[in-house]
Amino acid sequence: MIEFKNVSKVYPNGTYGLKDVNVRIDDGEFVFVLGASGAGKSTFLKLIMHEEKVTSGELVVNGFSLAGLKQREVPKLRRSMGIVFQDFRLIPSMNVYDNVAFALRVTDTPYREIRKRVPFVLDLVGLIHKAKNMPNELSGGEQQRVALARALVNKPALIIADEPTGNIDPEMSMEIVDMLDSINKVGTTILMVTHEHELIRRYDHRVITIEGGSILSDRPDWRDAR
Ligand code: ADP
Ligand code: ADP
Repeated sequence: MIEFKNVSKVYPNGTYGLKDVNVRIDDGEFVFVLGASGAGKSTFLKLIMHEEKVTSGELVVNGFSLAGLKQREVPKLRRSMGIVFQDFRLIPSMNVYDNVAFALRVTDTPYREIRKRVPFVLDLVGLIHKAKNMPNELSGGEQQRVALARALVNKPALIIADEPTGNIDPEMSMEIVDMLDSINKVGTTILMVTHEHELIRRYDHRVITIEGGSILSDRPDWRDAR
């Protein structure tokens, strides 16, 4: 669960990233976050990931109250979420298998568990046959599916996808969102930032629109609003 209560973020130079935001996202929801460049979408995500700290208000994410979060709690918070970036951020010198396994190795997951979980998530994203390939041998859509497998392998309660389809062609984009949709159906909360209205229109999900650091609209169902 994510809850913003009167949250503002003011950057050191005085710019407002977010202004008095109130919003609640329940476990199991699929939410699109929409907004023009400079609207505050990244600030919204960075606060949730605890990459930036709230200036005022209360923010609770997956049971962690972020305002006074202890440094030793940060890794636990981060493990409760999987993150997918627009530019994939795979490690170029590691093959597909190791890119995914790396996310488990850094958390000291037992070897047996790694051997079980990595093939499982690679199968889920349809890339088990590419396990030994290097990232630069894959198409953009495939690289993003590896990134998605890596985000999933720690079994997070929440997946944050920051413009995951920004660097891939439209057909592959739908495949990525369909995959997020299936992942959501088995219980994972999905928060996906995009500015592709066309993509949003194809799905029945809640859409939070941010403008000028504030929530402009929050529609439980896009189709109802038309
Ligand atoms: P978006 O992700 O929707 O493009 P951002 O959250 O990055 O928007 O930005 C929201 C506002 O905060 C913008 O006015 C932006 O210029 C400002 N901003 C973002 N990061 C910083 C920063 N580190 N320092 C100062 N201002 C920032
Ligand atoms: P898409 O599936 O998104 O249309 P491409 O047409 O670029 O992607 O790729 C088709 C196939 O060729 C994929 O299976 C991909 O793994 C492989 N491929 C793409 N680029 C390379 C490359 N540079 N080296 C080796 N294989 C590649």
